[in-house]
Amino acid sequence: MGQKHVVIVGAGAGGLSTAARLAHRGVRVTVLEQNDSVGGRNRRQSVNDCQFDGGPTLLMMLDPFRKLFSDLGERFEERVPITLCNPSYRVFYGDGSRIDATVDQDVMTERIRALCGDRDAEQFKPFLEELKALYEASIPTFVRKNYGSLKDFAGPRQLGLVTKHHMLSNLAKRVEKRFSDPRLRMLFSFQTMYLGLSPYDAPWVYATLAYMEFGEGIWYPSGGLPRITEEIAKLAQERGAEIRLGARVAAIHPGRVTLDTGEEITADAVVSNADLTYTNRELVGKPDRRKLRFSCSAHVMYIDYEGELENLQHHNVIFGSDFRGNLDSLFHALKTPEDPAFYVCLAKRTDPTVAPEGHHSLFILVPVPNLDCAMSDADQARLEDTVFARLTKESGFDPSKIRGVARCGPKEWHEQLNLDRGAAFGLSHDLFQSAFMRPQNVRSDVPGLYYVGASTVPGNGLPMVLISAELVEQRMIGDGVI
Ligand SMILES: Cc1cc2nc3c(=O)[nH]c(=O)nc-3n(C[C@H](O)[C@H](O)[C@H](O)COP(=O)(O)OP(=O)(O)OC[C@H]3O[C@@H](n4cnc5c(N)ncnc54)[C@H](O)[C@@H]3O)c2cc1C
Repeated sequence: MGQKHVVIVGAGAGGLSTAARLAHRGVRVTVLEQNDSVGGRNRRQSVNDCQFDGGPTLLMMLDPFRKLFSDLGERFEERVPITLCNPSYRVFYGDGSRIDATVDQDVMTERIRALCGDRDAEQFKPFLEELKALYEASIPTFVRKNYGSLKDFAGPRQLGLVTKHHMLSNLAKRVEKRFSDPRLRMLFSFQTMYLGLSPYDAPWVYATLAYMEFGEGIWYPSGGLPRITEEIAKLAQERGAEIRLGARVAAIHPGRVTLDTGEEITADAVVSNADLTYTNRELVGKPDRRKLRFSCSAHVMYIDYEGELENLQHHNVIFGSDFRGNLDSLFHALKTPEDPAFYVCLAKRTDPTVAPEGHHSLFILVPVPNLDCAMSDADQARLEDTVFARLTKESGFDPSKIRGVARCGPKEWHEQLNLDRGAAFGLSHDLFQSAFMRPQNVRSDVPGLYYVGASTVPGNGLPMVLISAELVEQRMIGDGVI
């Protein structure tokens, strides 16, 4: 049998990890990326001489990164040196109080005690124990898992674990039972927003995200988050994969793809890393029959700021005064929030090379509805004014010190990366779009087509997308395709 050839559409974290894995097995791999750089959402951005991570800024859950590199005979931390962020992040509440999150459990307990008193402080360690058990039960059984049928999810052992760890209970309600102070309730539930999901709509199993932060920590890779995908691209190329930039795929057919130039490339299999619903509708011509739901989007500002910003750490989470109201606007009323929670990254606190002397690379991410409810220019201006006013209060931010700004919002996520509805985090992770109910990584009516990335299993976030590459590799081996 000759060497197998696999074409991968898209050089995001999912496409590149799959390329590296398959090339390591001796498969001939061609990656076709429409843009002129690798990384997809994990790309670089610059404004004047300030450098930014374009999308992800938080490196968490190291295991899938270590596994990818070790499966290829390499060590992650040797190729991508990392530093623990301490504090993990600073939280600013609407009432003027603050807390610094850390993985040091004793220190965290005392910080909770100072903010909220003894009762909640004593709940912290048992809470973390509960999350650890949930994490250890859910990742191997439900996340690192290719589903064939319902029984893969609903066998006696799996159902036993679901019940024992309350995996399908409501996340916000379980956190409310544990902690009485509303500020802690926010602190230990807002992480589902990383999935573009409200904690009030999320199953408890997603509390594993809080475990990643408080149990394992948040890390910074030397060179920023895009360094990771750049290094994975190198791993793939060192093993013979070809990565073609500026190569936009126009159609996927069984056994071949067509580029928008008309060029055709034949392959034994095609793996699409492009957004799943976009792939099905635009590239395959067979839209999903199910009505699928999408995550929210993100309005990101990349600002060259001349001056100091007091009180801000590398990572900062800023809550408005009405957490629930903000979530309802985002996820139910589909309105631009009036008093938004947002995230601020000041990478220069860890990495002095990201901005020139006297400047900061100021990254602000505000969760906003996706294109189902397009934000008007007036809405956007109002949102930015609100965010700036809050930053002025917390850090002395002065809008007159902005020396340059770039923006990426729902429209840009859609136009630049083909993310359906501009949903920056892909398909929603509600209960009915999780695990075996999420679109799987293979489609029976298009032979030889596989999917990898945030909108297939297991889901969004760099660690999940790397696991997605593990799963598609296993699926292809099981199918005898490679
Ligand atoms: C603002 C933001 C912040 C985030 N923060 C974090 C974080 O802190 N930590 C974390 O772990 N995760 C974070 N995430 C999530 C993480 O970025 C994603 O889960 C991950 O990068 C998705 O990778 P992917 O490979 O699935 O898709 P993508 O990165 O979207 O890659 C898909 C690739 O396919 C290409 N493509 C599409 N159509 C075609 C076509 N027709 N032809 C050729 N190529 C095509 C695209 O150009 C793109 O390069 C964040 C996401 C966003 C948007």
